[in-house]
Order: sequence, then structure tokens, then C-alpha cells
Amino acid sequence: MQSLSPIEKINHPTFDKHQLTVFIKRDDTIHPIISGNKWRKLKFNLSHAKQHNFSGVLSFGGSFSNHIHALAFACQQQGLKSIGIIRGEKEYANNFTLSMAKRWGMELIFVDRKTYRLREDADYLASLQQQHPDYLVVPEGGSNTLALIGVGEVIEELNQQCKFDTLLTPVGSGGTLAGLVQADNNQHQLLGIAVLKQDNYLTEQVNNLLGKPSHHNNWQILSEFHRGGYAKFNKDDVQRLLAFNQQTGFIFEPVYSGKMILALLDLIEQGHFPEGHRIVLLHTGGLQGLGGMIERGLLDGDDWSVPLINNQ
Ligand SMILES: *Cc1c(COP(=O)(O)O)cnc(C)c1O
Repeated sequence: MQSLSPIEKINHPTFDKHQLTVFIKRDDTIHPIISGNKWRKLKFNLSHAKQHNFSGVLSFGGSFSNHIHALAFACQQQGLKSIGIIRGEKEYANNFTLSMAKRWGMELIFVDRKTYRLREDADYLASLQQQHPDYLVVPEGGSNTLALIGVGEVIEELNQQCKFDTLLTPVGSGGTLAGLVQADNNQHQLLGIAVLKQDNYLTEQVNNLLGKPSHHNNWQILSEFHRGGYAKFNKDDVQRLLAFNQQTGFIFEPVYSGKMILALLDLIEQGHFPEGHRIVLLHTGGLQGLGGMIERGLLDGDDWSVPLINNQ
């Protein structure tokens, strides 16, 4: 694993026209299999598990979860066992994400939606811990206080790499944004782009992760750029994104980082950023998730030159 992910300037006519400087923090390059932010979030959880002599890590996710995928691989690499509590039916066990997780040694336990909804319930968690006493239980998405410390390293790195005004990140469960807010400590503007429909529960979730009362007031989650919901996008969105990828030479996928890009372009058109503003985009990775989307026919594999690592 690299210790410092690179930062690169993105050139695009829209940025020139509005006199904006845009950098990309390439957390997608941290690892070819593990999404960048998932690695940041898992790093201190896995070292905690080893230090405290847990034999494995147990966590939760849907059947296309980048977190489950990353956890299975990272645990195998670090000599830890892993259990995934999966929302959904066994028929998903052979999909792109879960078949790889199994190959990396993860034990998959499928639960119905009702049971999955208990994933933060104290009694349910206590009973899981009792059934698996030697496993560290980590919440869905890996988002806990240990995760915040790992994500915070992004800010430490950026402070060595460049000067900037605003940092943009996609937001799923809020753990990544919370880690950035904590480490940034009111130095920059932090903008989260919600990739799913939500009515402010993400803001609450970030506040909960930060622990109240938080004195950080330099962050905001924008809710109007989800494009229909989680993993939803229309043909026009995909075309705009493919054009942007082609013009810039970077690959952004439509579930997370691509929604951030489309939001950025919309915000620029709306005049959100003053001339001379310096923006950093956090590329959280997630290119593996493209494999599942191509597999499900949601995207055309010919459009996306992504190496699909299918035979590990
Ligand atoms: C999980 C994920 C996110 C969202 O991170 P949260 O900490 O859950 O908000 C963003 N980008 C990618 C690629 C992810 O896999």
C-alpha cells in the first residue's frame, strides 16, 4: 500500500472558463481492488483487531457492497478471518462482488431485510458478538470512530501537497466526510455530495460520528445531486460523464465519484464558486463496482475501459 496518494490537476474547458483550479486526490490509486476510502476506513479497524487479538472482523453490507468486497480482501491480506452479514438472498452469492468475497475467504451470512434493519440495534449486536466472540464487529460501510482517524490522513496529506479552498467528496454513509471534517478542523470548506436520496439523516449521521457537540461548521451535504437515488442515473448522466472522462483522461464511475463530478459541473454553472477558487476532488475509488454494473447490464462494458479483476 502506498502511504501518500498522488494529487493531480484536472484540465477542462469549463474550469478555465470560470477561472477555477481543480485538483484530484487519487485515492483510487491506493489499491487496484480496494476502494480508496474503504481502505482508509478499514486501516485502523484491522490494526485494532490484530492488536486486540481478534481472529477476524464481522461487518454488514448489501450484495453489491464495496465495503464487503474491500473487507474480504483486506482481511485475507492481513491474515484475519471475515464474516459478511449480507442483506438479500442467497441467489446473489455468485454475483461479481460476493463471489470474490467468498474466494477471499469471507463467510457470507444472508439475512432478510427485517433482520438487516437491526444492524445498529444493541441487542442484535450483542447476540452477534456472543455467536462470534473472537470477531471485531464493524458497522456497515466501515464507518466508526477508528475509520475517521484513517480518513483524516487525507487532510494531513493534502496539507503537504497543495493549497486549496474547497474539498468535495461523495457521501454514502457519511463516514468519509466525518473523518475529513474532524481532521480538517475548520481549515477549508468541505462539501459532501449525497449519492442517495435522503432527508437530512446523513447530516445527523455525520454529527453522530463526530460526537456532539461539534465545533465544526465548515461542512455541508448537498442533497439535490443524487440523480434519482443510489446507483441510479440516466443515459444523459452517463454520456456527460463519459465525455468528461474522455476530455480529462480520468475514470469516474457513475455511483460515487461520477455523481460528484456531475454535481461539480452543475455547481460551476450555477456560479457557486468564485473566480480563482481552488477545489480538490476526492476520488474515493470504487472502480470495481463498475464490474457489477456491467454484469447487471446497467452499463455497457465497451464504454468503460476498466480492468475487471475476476480471477484472483
Ligand atoms: C463507500 C463509498 C463512498 C461513500 O463513503 P461513505 O464513507 O460511506 O460516505 C464513496 N465512494 C466510494 C467509491 C465508496 O465505495
